[in-house]
Amino acid sequence: MANQFIDTAKITVRAGDGGGGAVAFHREKYVAAGGPDGGDGGRGGDVILRVDNHMSTLMDFRYKRKYTAENGKDGSGKRCSGKDGQDLVIKVPRGTVVRDQKTGEIICDMSSDEDFVLAKGGKGGWGNQHFATPTRQVPHFAKAGLPGQSRDVMLELKLLADAGLVGFPNVGKSTLLSVVSRAQPKIANYHFTTLFPNLGVVPMEEGRSFVLADIPGIIEGAADGAGLGHDFLRHIDRCRLLIHVVDVSGSEGRDPVEDFEAINAELARWSPELASRKMLVAANKTDIMEDPSLLEKLRSHVEAKGLPLYEISAAAHKGTQELMYAVAGELDKLPPVIVYEPTYVEPEPDVDTSAPLEITRDEDGTWIVDGPWLRQLMANVNFGDYESRNWFERKLREAGVYQQMEDMGVEDGDVVCLYNLEFEYQH
Ligand code: GDP
Ligand code: MG
Repeated sequence: MANQFIDTAKITVRAGDGGGGAVAFHREKYVAAGGPDGGDGGRGGDVILRVDNHMSTLMDFRYKRKYTAENGKDGSGKRCSGKDGQDLVIKVPRGTVVRDQKTGEIICDMSSDEDFVLAKGGKGGWGNQHFATPTRQVPHFAKAGLPGQSRDVMLELKLLADAGLVGFPNVGKSTLLSVVSRAQPKIANYHFTTLFPNLGVVPMEEGRSFVLADIPGIIEGAADGAGLGHDFLRHIDRCRLLIHVVDVSGSEGRDPVEDFEAINAELARWSPELASRKMLVAANKTDIMEDPSLLEKLRSHVEAKGLPLYEISAAAHKGTQELMYAVAGELDKLPPVIVYEPTYVEPEPDVDTSAPLEITRDEDGTWIVDGPWLRQLMANVNFGDYESRNWFERKLREAGVYQQMEDMGVEDGDVVCLYNLEFEYQH
């Protein structure tokens, strides 16, 4: 459906790779061979998420699913570093929850104004300027850049609203929102008018306000995905309070008590927790009531459940302000809007350590260990962290790197060079 509200999307993001370091030598007149002066590669760009308050759907992600930040440029001679790759900023509507596609775990909840780095760019490789030692004057090698992170994520929009309007289609939810806020939702006298959830700010006294969401009609079977309502239920997950709007006019031949129970059953099927959320009942269309006993039946029904009922006419602006005062009063007693805590734990990178490595010796005896998986491994190690270093050590040992070097005759104190890492071998 072309005009349907899009509130989930799957995308793949990839940060930029680091640029390669340069092998170059300083040239001067009368100096046959100058020192090494190859510059470092630039850093790959990050992929960054940023909240954009003008966005209200994930529509943009429907057709564009791959997002790639720029790679770092290679270094060059005269110690020139390569340019860093540009970050890629992806704008998302406020309330977008980002999950790992595989595990479903929450990576971040884009509810605040803070940017989130979803994929980190790879570090640039060192140029040969770094590899000169007293015994190795002419290093003929530099390091490749490290790869940028890539991620497959699912975006899910869960609007941030204090209160949500629920009820059958056509009961007057959008009308109520338009009357108490400056939002201008579409209003029409037929079912399923609202295809997009609408948010409105309801002003109260002394500059206080709260956010009210108009959720499209929930119909029977919605929690099973039978109707439009299913997609929209997620938007009330975060609401602190629900306003259940019921048409008591009898104009469509409906029974308000049955309607009320049908909607509650849908809420409970979506989430039992949601069904127990604080609820106020708004009996609407009292201006065209044909049979007042319908209202009284509903009143005794909901009051028996301990819920307050407010008689309103959204169209005639009757009772709406009183209802909003009651909502504000309840909100004062409730905890703030839920922000989801990340549950995602970065898995150990999937590195195939069985692939062969190249171990060579420089003219001055330095051991040089090289290979594509090593690069990938190093991109994922935080060398400032003890645990990470241990993990790295373990991987090298598992891959038989040290055994291979032992077989080749490595001795304690020999210098080992692993990409940007140089250390002395210790048995
Ligand atoms: P929604 O589907 O729940 O959002 O309902 P709408 O707000 O779109 O309203 C559906 C129809 O009911 C529209 O024709 C409104 O003008 C009408 N309506 C809404 N509230 C009232 C009311 O209090 N009294 C009367 N008479 N009509 C109303
Ligand atoms: Mg509506």
